[in-house]
Amino acid sequence: MSKHEFLDPVLPSDDSVESVPLSTEQLELILNIQQEVLHALAEDKRESGILDQLCKLVEGLLDNAVASVLLLHQNDQLMSIVSAPSIPEEGQIRLSNKRLDIGYGSCTAAVLHGKPAYINNAATDYRMSKSLDLVRDFNVCSCWSVPVYNRDGKIVGSFMLSSFEHRTPTTYHDRVMKTCSSIVSIIQERKALRRLSMTDKLTGMWNRVKLDKLLVSQLKAYQRHAETYSLVLLDVDHFKQVNDTYGHNAGDAVLVDLANILKSNVRGNDVVGRWGGEEFMMLLSNSNAIKAQVVAEKMRVLVKQHQFPGVGNVTISLGICEVSRELSVLEMIDCADQALYKAKKKGRDQVCLAVLDRMENIEPKKLATKKVLVSEAVC
Ligand code: GH3
Ligand code: MG
Ligand code: MG
Repeated sequence: MSKHEFLDPVLPSDDSVESVPLSTEQLELILNIQQEVLHALAEDKRESGILDQLCKLVEGLLDNAVASVLLLHQNDQLMSIVSAPSIPEEGQIRLSNKRLDIGYGSCTAAVLHGKPAYINNAATDYRMSKSLDLVRDFNVCSCWSVPVYNRDGKIVGSFMLSSFEHRTPTTYHDRVMKTCSSIVSIIQERKALRRLSMTDKLTGMWNRVKLDKLLVSQLKAYQRHAETYSLVLLDVDHFKQVNDTYGHNAGDAVLVDLANILKSNVRGNDVVGRWGGEEFMMLLSNSNAIKAQVVAEKMRVLVKQHQFPGVGNVTISLGICEVSRELSVLEMIDCADQALYKAKKKGRDQVCLAVLDRMENIEPKKLATKKVLVSEAVC
């Protein structure tokens, strides 16, 4: 079916913007949106929250309209909603995973044509031809979208405003839409940078920055809701020899392989990341020391049995510390590290568990000089 069959000769799809000089009040409103978003950025709010806030702010400017942000998935070229605080779930589901094709509304048209798509009559415009059910079911009359760009100038999605009444954009609306597009670009860029700052480049795992944050939030959850968990530190045995014998690149490949073994063998709500060098950390939720020992032992065996290409067998040593009222984050790490040290000392390729002195058994002098309260480590 040709796209032109959907063109209504009376209501052409011309993307026209009614040229009206902006009033001082309208400029103020646009400035206000920018200021609110800057404030949210300065407060370090999460990106998803800021996008929702942006949509709500724009909806506040225009009656009978809902705003949304759609992004293009690079791998499958499908567009899906990342923010649409006023669109009911059913609508969001039906709007999501749209193929990048003409007919799925202004959001795909803006991305495909690389310019604003201002559809003023959704029922007749060919760019809505494959979404007429949505137009009917949700009473969409107008649908405007502007492309969103990444830092390289590539289009990565669109900002959309759907109205339940017919309207033609004025210069003011055009400016609002383009302002929102720039804001979404900035928010997405920040999200990508934040993610990058928390990801280990070699293994793609969480890095120490993220692990530090997770350690704090896990401990808080434990203190509030008594959600027990265990911290496991693991270190590759004689890794220097691997590098010295097979080269640094082969050593890197071992770390990547090892990271994949760990990632694919923890449960969904467990955390695993690279603590540094050839050391990794696991935070095992709902696991006391005994359960953590089972997981740690499983990992030890899996790694030992794995044939690392070009290198062969590699072993790891692991130290466990179960969360406790007496311990701070730093003390928990220290505690797991002491258990790991013990595993190394006892011959490597094994799991050791830190056993704590009870607080009341510790002399004040010892507390002042010793950060960690490990009395022994069981292997
Ligand atoms: P142990 O059994 O006591 O842990 O001995 P080890 O040789 O593993 O420990 P050591 O601390 O002496 O050496 C760790 C080595 O890990 C030294 C360092 O060059 C290497 N290493 C750290 N980060 C990386 C990395 O990203 N890639 C590679 N290939 N090697 C790394
Ligand atoms: Mg080592
Ligand atoms: Mg080490």
